[in-house]
Amino acid sequence: MFDPWILKNIYMKLIAVIGSGTMGNGIAHTFAQAGYRVNLIDLNQERLNAALLTIEKNLDRQISKGLILADQKSDVLQNIQSFTQLNEGVSDAELVIEAATEDVAIKLKIFEDLDKFCKADTILASNTSSISITKIAGVTRRPDKIIGMHFMNPVPVMKLVEVIRGFSTSDETTKTIMNLSAQINKVPVEVHDYPGFVANRILMPMINEAIQCLHESVAGVHEIDTVMKLGMSHPMGPLQLADFIGLDVCLAILNVLYQGFGNPKYAPSPLLVNMVASGQLGVKSGSGFYDYTGGTKELVVSKRWG
Ligand code: NAD
Repeated sequence: MFDPWILKNIYMKLIAVIGSGTMGNGIAHTFAQAGYRVNLIDLNQERLNAALLTIEKNLDRQISKGLILADQKSDVLQNIQSFTQLNEGVSDAELVIEAATEDVAIKLKIFEDLDKFCKADTILASNTSSISITKIAGVTRRPDKIIGMHFMNPVPVMKLVEVIRGFSTSDETTKTIMNLSAQINKVPVEVHDYPGFVANRILMPMINEAIQCLHESVAGVHEIDTVMKLGMSHPMGPLQLADFIGLDVCLAILNVLYQGFGNPKYAPSPLLVNMVASGQLGVKSGSGFYDYTGGTKELVVSKRWG
């Protein structure tokens, strides 16, 4: 059956990605590999250069694993252009995906600007882990064209896109983004806009409970992760996963759930609060529940918990 929304996706050629950090460079890589032109935007050229280097390394890894051919690398890289000025990068885009720092004020300002700089029919998506899509839509004059596209880390590898409908997101916008996600070889799942959406509403209380078990000395780091890996077939234990996500990010999402629902069951564990306050953020700071000073290959429980 003819589906006009599929046609719309075919004409979607230029995607702008805002923020070139962990998620932004993965999103740019994924779209560029699927044949889209990508404008990658960040605050300065140094960050953009670092992102392009990361994309190159990740393409080399895909080549060494036989996932793509060696001569595809230059095509993918040629599809990506970098920009430090928001207006220059987004003015011709048919879709903008915002993957900037998880901070409400930063995101609201970006969407206010996008509403001014983008064409009237451009869809504006956010990769936010926890900020309300409806709230973001409220600062624009196009709430029907605002949607969540929650990619998972690492983006080129993970199949899921949680597609979040805000209160005013139209059926057309949702269908376009569902189709587009499938076209870049991902599996989209449609959810509604409530705190934590689905992924983090279920994941974060589990991580919080694992941290609380450690805090109450129910078991050690290794024991808690082993129970969940071997007992529940999770590829990674919840404490290792928390280190990988970043303990500051876990705390921020739990606070969104706690405030959003006003339910004490989401209150962050005091141990998590203390670890973040002391700068133990997991992989990115070199230590969390595990110690990463010697790299991430071998799992060494941090001295404090050993
Ligand atoms: P990050 O810190 O690695 O990157 C954020 C980037 O945004 C930085 O390069 C920063 O310079 C840039 N930035 C900040 N303000 C900007 C602005 N005004 N204009 C342009 N660029 C700006 O963060 P990340 O981990 O990539 O997270 C980005 C988003 O993705 C967040 O909303 C986060 O919640 C979400 N997310 C993260 C993960 C994860 O595992 N890291 C998973 C899913 C979703």
